[in-house]
Amino acid sequence: MQKVLIANRGEIALRIIRACKELGLKTVAVHSTADRELMHLAMADETVCIGPAIATESYLNIPRIISAAEVTGADAIHPGYGFLAENADFAEQIERSGFTFIGPSADVIRLMGDKVSAIEAMKKAGVPTVPGSDGPLPEDEQKCLQIAKRVGYPVIIKASGGGGGRGMRVVHKEEDLIKSIRLTRTEAGAAFGNPMVYLEKFLTNPRHVEVQVLSDGQGNAIHLGDRDCSLQRRHQKIIEEAPAPGVDEKARAEVQARCVQACIELGYRGAGTFEFLYEDGQFFFIEMNTRIQVEHPISEMVTGIDILKEQIKVCGGLPLSLKQEDVVIRGHAIECRINAEDPTSFLPSPGTVSFFHAPGGNGVRVDSHLYSGYKVPPNYDSLVGKLITYGATRDEAMARMRNALDELVVDGIKTNTPLHRELVRDEGFCKGGVNIHYLEKKLGIS
Ligand code: ADP
Repeated sequence: MQKVLIANRGEIALRIIRACKELGLKTVAVHSTADRELMHLAMADETVCIGPAIATESYLNIPRIISAAEVTGADAIHPGYGFLAENADFAEQIERSGFTFIGPSADVIRLMGDKVSAIEAMKKAGVPTVPGSDGPLPEDEQKCLQIAKRVGYPVIIKASGGGGGRGMRVVHKEEDLIKSIRLTRTEAGAAFGNPMVYLEKFLTNPRHVEVQVLSDGQGNAIHLGDRDCSLQRRHQKIIEEAPAPGVDEKARAEVQARCVQACIELGYRGAGTFEFLYEDGQFFFIEMNTRIQVEHPISEMVTGIDILKEQIKVCGGLPLSLKQEDVVIRGHAIECRINAEDPTSFLPSPGTVSFFHAPGGNGVRVDSHLYSGYKVPPNYDSLVGKLITYGATRDEAMARMRNALDELVVDGIKTNTPLHRELVRDEGFCKGGVNIHYLEKKLGIS
């Protein structure tokens, strides 16, 4: 691998280019016409405009991205997260065209992209899953009623092809079951082109705890500990921390080992995340993300391992250079996602950043593509940066985050910084271990 094309934008494109440069790799940045001012374009060896602002004509356009790789002589493509990162057809076409896809094989992406097949694969590998229908719900509605009765209400109906928090419906009473199944099937068929649905026990007070893995597809895999991402609004993570506070050590060790084993059995290549709901000391698998995640820096901070560089190396065919015993979790890290949005209405707030000042100091990391004068386009995700703090203890990381948030200045656009400033002083969150409903309850949404 010598030249990497970065098929993404914003902060993750910047993160990828930094990792490539450290590895001595040449880089190609592709961008839309709305993104000519992105910071990483100035750092890339080559840049290619691949189309207009609308993502289907640029960052989601497979032929244009592959053509850009072809004309620049890139030999690998990094998808980042979002856009085409978990699109199995993209991975397949990249490999077929003779490039390296920096991620797992198309088959593994496909297997994990379908929730029913993902859960089945996890069960086989001994990863604990949520009690439920064990596969798709049958057409026979009487049988569906029996399944739900066995599992016990409340239950959640989920589309096998669903994602991004869509295609799910909670059912509290038997009389609502059939109607909900029909509705979810219809919606899933329209939204994901796949009407297959399944059923799970609905956990009432879970936390979101996930396990970061690195695997080379050559029989070597490790985990880099876990992260708690329970502070969410509409299934969007707002603050994450590593390690997850107050988790049962036996259950943790067991689930981490199972994830590593699953990677080996799947022939998994690259960085990945197993997402779980954690309730009453037990883990329940919900899905696997087959890509680098937004919140990867907090795991980097507590392990000292550069996940991006390791991901690129193993996807380039090198065996994993780390063993499990090389991974030592030290201290605590927190990440606040800075979004260009109104902190009360949550509506996007694009526009020109008249002044930007990043915080600094011991244990402070800022992953952001913002600079004074940069214009945030209205066309894409509102994430404009990540503020990460590290401390020897959780309290120290929190204190540093309070300072860092106070130092941060983003003028000209609205951001959710005021919400973060409030949350890092919130009694419940400061104590640790809040569940996935905590933030919405606090905001008065549920
Ligand atoms: P998506 O792929 O759309 O993100 P997930 O399966 O990861 O879907 O679920 C998204 C969120 O929905 C979870 O983080 C959790 O908040 C909620 N959820 C999913 N399954 C359950 C369940 N069985 N019980 C309670 N909440 C659930």
